[in-house]
Amino acid sequence: MSTSTAPAPLGTPIVQPIHHSAAYAFETLADARAVFAQRAGGFTYARTGNPNVAALEAEITRLEHGECAVATASGQAAVTLALLSLTGPAKDAHAVVSSRIYGGTVDLLTDTLADTGLEVTFADPRNPDEWEAAVREGTRVFLLESIANPLTELPELEAIAEIGHRHGAVVVVDNTVATPHLYTPGAHGADLVIHSATKYLAGHGGPLGGLLVDTGRFDPTRDPERWPWLTRRQHRWGGRSPREVYGPKRALLGVARCKYLNDLGPCMGATTAHEILQGISTLGVRVERQTATAQRLASTLSQHPAVARVHHPRFTGARQAALLEAGGYRGAGAVFSVDLRGAPEQVEQVVDALRLIKLAANIGDVRTLVAHPASMTHCRLTPEQFEASGITENTLRFTVGLEDEADLTADLFQALSVIAPARSPQVPA
Ligand SMILES: *Cc1c(COP(=O)(O)O)cnc(C)c1O
Repeated sequence: MSTSTAPAPLGTPIVQPIHHSAAYAFETLADARAVFAQRAGGFTYARTGNPNVAALEAEITRLEHGECAVATASGQAAVTLALLSLTGPAKDAHAVVSSRIYGGTVDLLTDTLADTGLEVTFADPRNPDEWEAAVREGTRVFLLESIANPLTELPELEAIAEIGHRHGAVVVVDNTVATPHLYTPGAHGADLVIHSATKYLAGHGGPLGGLLVDTGRFDPTRDPERWPWLTRRQHRWGGRSPREVYGPKRALLGVARCKYLNDLGPCMGATTAHEILQGISTLGVRVERQTATAQRLASTLSQHPAVARVHHPRFTGARQAALLEAGGYRGAGAVFSVDLRGAPEQVEQVVDALRLIKLAANIGDVRTLVAHPASMTHCRLTPEQFEASGITENTLRFTVGLEDEADLTADLFQALSVIAPARSPQVPA
């Protein structure tokens, strides 16, 4: 036994320590000056960067095969930063947006960002002609989801991206529901990928977070007059242009981080970045299992007498099934919806009768959750937006967790017996 009083060597941690520091010290004023002027790389203050956040940004860049990434406080902040960086200073800013998009994104675009002058036209992600018809001179953004929430529709991304690029628009894809495990939008025409990291990347229903990934396809110098705030010299960038400071492929996210994230402040904290990185380390196994369970539950429910319709690409026609098979997807994800038969009061009774499945407005948790989109996530839609969304008063959305499939089936069948009893299927042991 050693008699030394020196502490044993600590070794190298496998998990990155949490760097909980607001500011970073410099050796000399000359060093500080160079980093603040963005002539040298380095952390200054945690609003624009931190070692844990940088590690998460590097990991999502790797998973999406991208060029660079910026982390934000939430998915909403990521969508906001993307839209501001792409349209903020333009007087004629217009975006074409999927009519089957997350309710929070609709609120952001049609209310808060509409106040800044941004105009939006909604188009069906299954119909590229609607996107072509919606384009106008000021169109700078196409925005859609790789798997639409809540109805699990797959978009005609390659055709839509081709239309966007032909008209000089940047194609932004929200990849939250799919995750890079099931789909990488950059391989199918997306310029910018967005995540609500709150969902599958974090994976356990804990922290909120957002990510913006540049896939490296967008280069504003190909049409500099269209993107003057990225290509022209400005006082803000020390008399240089963002293109000169960050390079053509990183100018957009350079502006997102050093202007909008810095000025507005919706940054991610070190602990959150750490938790999301821990979540990502089990992403593949969680998503594989949740996707498989979701598909079997969707299949089981499609046979149930209380269910009028199942919204899952396996059960919504040949084109959706073909996109799932050959469109680059490794699965349809773990979110699906059903339209129940029966009166709205009965739908409410079914929701209230669920016991294992919790009623909550989240997806991507390890716990299975149910939501009533018309009363919850999509409650602020106008009657026209509600009509276009495909959601009804009888739609229930499920996000499947890691519980045993037999327990989930039993809970669903006892609750659905309010509308129509059915014998639970024999679940193989
Ligand atoms: C939840 C969600 C968002 C918003 O993300 P937050 O982290 O809740 O701010 C955006 N898009 C999709 C598809 C989402 O599910």
